[in-house]
Formats: sequence, C-alpha cells, structure tokens
Amino acid sequence: MPVFFYNTMSRCREEFVPIEGSKVGIYTCGPTVYNFATIGNFRAYIFEDLLRRTLKYFGYNIVQVMNLTDVDDKTIRDSRAAGMGLMAYTEKYKKAFFEDIAALRIEKAEFYPEATAHIPEMIEIIKTLLEKGYAYQADDGSVYFSVAKFADYGKLSKIDMENQMPGARVKNDEYAKDSVADFALWKAWNEADGDVFWESPWGKGRPGWHIECSAMSMKYLGKTFDIHTGGIDNMFPHHEDEIAQSEAANGCRFVNYWLHCEHLIVDGQKMSKSLGNFFTLRDLFEKGFTNREIRWALLGTHYRKKLNFGLGFLENARTALQKFDAFFIRLGNLVSADVPGDDADQLVASVSEAFRNGLADDLNVSEAIAAIYHLESEAGRLFETGKLSSKGATAVFDAFRDFNRVFDVFHVELAAQSVPPEVLKLAEERQRARKLKDFKKADEIRDALNNMGWQIEDTAKGPRPIRIG
Ligand code: AMP
Ligand code: ZN
Repeated sequence: MPVFFYNTMSRCREEFVPIEGSKVGIYTCGPTVYNFATIGNFRAYIFEDLLRRTLKYFGYNIVQVMNLTDVDDKTIRDSRAAGMGLMAYTEKYKKAFFEDIAALRIEKAEFYPEATAHIPEMIEIIKTLLEKGYAYQADDGSVYFSVAKFADYGKLSKIDMENQMPGARVKNDEYAKDSVADFALWKAWNEADGDVFWESPWGKGRPGWHIECSAMSMKYLGKTFDIHTGGIDNMFPHHEDEIAQSEAANGCRFVNYWLHCEHLIVDGQKMSKSLGNFFTLRDLFEKGFTNREIRWALLGTHYRKKLNFGLGFLENARTALQKFDAFFIRLGNLVSADVPGDDADQLVASVSEAFRNGLADDLNVSEAIAAIYHLESEAGRLFETGKLSSKGATAVFDAFRDFNRVFDVFHVELAAQSVPPEVLKLAEERQRARKLKDFKKADEIRDALNNMGWQIEDTAKGPRPIRIG
C-alpha cells in the first residue's frame, strides 16, 4: 500500500519511496538534556513514534537515530548554575528521558548517539567545510559557516536571502529568521564555558548545536537518508543549518523527506521551558493521569495541526479509553463461549481498511480513530441485540490487537481472558436461585462474585459474568 507524507521541503504531499527497498533511515532531533522533557517535547516524540510504528505496520524496516544533545549553550549554562560538571548534570536528565519514553510506550530507536561522544566526527566535517571554502575562522578562533557561499541556503524554511547583511555572525545556537547570519560550527572556549572544552585544530572549544546532528546522522544513516523529523521550531535555523553543512561537505542531497510536527500550545503560545508554561510527564502523573491517557491525548490530533493543550484533553482521553475498556469487558466473555450469530467479517474488514487508509494518508489519525470508533459502536450494537457470534467477537478483538501495533493504548489482552470456571459456576448457581425465587441466596452469590471482581450483566443472551472495572 503506498504511503504518503507531506514533505516540508516541497510543501507537498508526496508518495514515500525509500532509497533502498524496504529499509527506512529516520533521524529525529532528540532532547537537549538540561531539564525534564515537557509534554510539548513529547508531542514531537509521540508523532515520531506514530511515524515509526506506521511504517513498521506497512512492512518497512526502520533504522531510527535519535540524538541526545548533551552539550550546547543551555546544558553548559544550567550545569554551571548548578555547580556541577556537564556530564554529571546531563546524566540525570538522560535517565529521566528514557524512563519517560518507556512510560509513554514510545518504541526505542535503534541508536541514541550522544553529542559528546561524537566530537571527532564533527571536527572532520568542519575541516572539510574549511577546505572547500564554505567555512572560515573568525578572530576569536571560532569557525563559522558562510551562508552566502551555499547557494541553496534557505530552501527548507523559504527564507528571503535578498535582504541579509553579508558577513553578519551569530554565535548563539538559537536565533530568529530575521537575524539569519553566518552560524558557528566550532565555538572557541571562553570563561562562560568553564571546564567544558575539547582540543581541535582551531584550539580548545566546543561544537555548535547544528553540526552535532549533521555528524551523527551521517555516521549512522549515511550521507543521504530517507526521513528527518522534528518539531516545527527546528526547521529554522537548526534544520536549515544541518542541510547547509551536510550538503556543502558531502556534495549530495542530505534528506529526501522532511516531516515537522506543529506545536503543542497553551493559551495560544508554544509550551516551552523558557516561557515557563509547561507540564512535565511527572507533573501529569502527580495529577493522577495515567501513561496511556497521556499517550492517547497526544496521539489524537493530526501532527501538522496545533494541539491546544489543557487538562480537559486528558479527561477526554480518560473517558474515551474507559469506554473502550467497558466494551472489551462486555465482549470478552463471548470470546471464550461458543455463541452462534454474525461473524462481523465485513464490518472488521471495512474498518481495518479505513484505519490503514487513514494512516497511509500522511498519518491521518482522525480517520484512523473514526474507524476504530465505528467498530466499537457497530460491534457494540450487534452485541446488545444478541447478534454477535463468538467468532465475530474474536475478530473484533483481533482488529483491536492490530490497531494496538500502532496506537498501543487498548487493554485488549486483559479483557479477552476467559471467565474462570468458579465464576461461571457461581453465576449458574445464582441463576438457579433466582428461578427458585431464593433472592437471599442470589444476592449472597452476587456479593461473593463482586468481591471476586465480577458482576452479572443481563444481556439479550441472558445473564453473563462481566469483569468489574
Ligand atoms: P529540545 O529539547 O528543545 O531540543 O526539543 C526536542 C524536540 O521537541 C524538538 O523536536 C522540538 O522541536 C520539540 N518541541 C519542543 N517544544 C515543543 C512543543 N511545544 N510542541 C511540539 N514539539 C516541541
Ligand atoms: Zn537536530
């Protein structure tokens, strides 16, 4: 099945064709480990997880690289403020990051390279850029990339290069579009860096942020690879500068498909540490939300739309997932029985097709989720009217297991377990007691079942034990 993505480079929806067979190389800009990641960051990582799982679902083999930025302006600034060495300081946040992605069931990438372990690779690229005339050393010893030398500069962010000041330089890692300038590849050491420096042909110093991703992507994915992702804020200057460095050094195209997710916003503004308007995952756990509720809330909005976040979002996710839980519990008992009726084959086939079509269309989760809801309501209707067969219920469960390969939020396994024989026996005894109008005994059995975690629900097919909660 062809898969389509919106490529930020062309601003068009394009059919995805990997460079080599079914193998897909993906580079995702990872966390800057100077603090706990925010829910905004997790929106980006969940989008990347959706991308990865969707491609796997369609049969592709993924090699995903997510870097850890463990040296840059922010990590140095905050480790110094905390009076700690850079490595000791970032260690804590690296550990927290891996705990957080595991909690959100974000599948692990194949590689998590750390910037501090790839300084020699960065130095090699900078040397090539100097040799080819794309870079120059300034008076303070820092090395800059000359944007005027790279004719394609601005092709991703569509920046207007006409009115730029030639020769202006920017040493900060982050800057705005209207201050486009020669950016730092290597930053000569100064007092503010403390004991953070590496030796280089240009004296002691440290790399700029952008060169980190050029070096690490090239090492693990080659000079040209399939997909590069990040939040929309990464497009300029970070990705624009990565393109300039990589293409100038290697003389070939850097990336075939650029995918950017829109921001998670609060009251109209990007959620970010610098604005102070953020929740970490830990904050939300403290408020009583669960990992799958947070995962569902972050998955539910198409990645190219802004996600206007509030706690109501999580409450809606809770309600939605509880509704599915109840559905699985009701249906679960049919699976272990041998009830005749409708096999639901056509329903399951058409819903699965709609699910796949949605995902293949630039990760259109709205369509995929609508298909899932349709299955829940239609299968639920068949069940309520006593028409759904055990085979049909099994097919519905299989469909949800299939959806879980991508969404991973449905408690299918738990609910599909069969009813234990002692529960069935008690349920039958209760039924007998009721027929004999021994309501006292019937109530006692009901209480005993409740204590065991079961309740009896009256369905069109007669009373059935249903697992509570
Ligand atoms: P950082 O740790 O700031 O380098 O960001 C890591 C990733 O999270 C990058 O891909 C950013 O673009 C992304 N990101 C940061 N804030 C948000 C947000 N509010 N919404 C979506 N993505 C974000
Ligand atoms: Zn990056």
